[in-house]
Amino acid sequence: MKIHSARFVMSNSSVEHCPNQPLPEYAFIGRSNVGKSSLINALTRHHSLAKTSSRPGKTQLINHFIINENWFLVDLPGYGYARVSKSTKKEFQSYIRAYFTKREQLFCAFVLIDSRHEPQPIDLEFMAWLASKEIAFYMVFTKADKLKKGAVQKKIDAYCKAMTDGAWEEHPPYFITSSSSGLGCEEILEEIDRLNEIYRAAH
Ligand code: GDP
Repeated sequence: MKIHSARFVMSNSSVEHCPNQPLPEYAFIGRSNVGKSSLINALTRHHSLAKTSSRPGKTQLINHFIINENWFLVDLPGYGYARVSKSTKKEFQSYIRAYFTKREQLFCAFVLIDSRHEPQPIDLEFMAWLASKEIAFYMVFTKADKLKKGAVQKKIDAYCKAMTDGAWEEHPPYFITSSSSGLGCEEILEEIDRLNEIYRAAH
């Protein structure tokens, strides 16, 4: 998919106030500092569409971007940031949960995972929650350039094993990405293109 335009639309903390156009929508979420902003900028070939930041947990809103004027990319707040207060965390959980369970246009999610780390309980719990709500998602392993190819695959295998050892019959599909090299970006955009066609055929 060629990106012709990528534009910020709005930020808010309530699913009720999200844009009401009937366009397919893809949510990007992951732990703070996972490389989400960098990946969004790499996907949209835009240096500063999403704010990259060395201060994790800064963006606490639902951010809508319209791409090619025909689908929404949604940048959700990073989870698992230890330094936010308990009440902020609770509030965060409630509106993120509301977004995932109520947003009709949401077609699927991309859950970002830092490929350098061992399986993290918070990521596994979040993905189990998505599955329990029957929300389709892909895993996206980020920062693959920081490891050798074989090492990245080992981390992915560990994630997949943690899932299939748990309640999962099979692991969800995944992408391997690097915002620095652009690895995996074309594949994600091709998949979104394919999903857009499916969404349109059904609506
Ligand atoms: P966010 O908090 O999830 O939005 O993460 P950011 O996109 O702000 O990235 C966090 C840090 O990781 C920044 O210092 C980025 O430069 C770095 N980073 C993000 N993606 C990559 C990547 O693909 N490769 C490398 N080497 N560093 C990355």
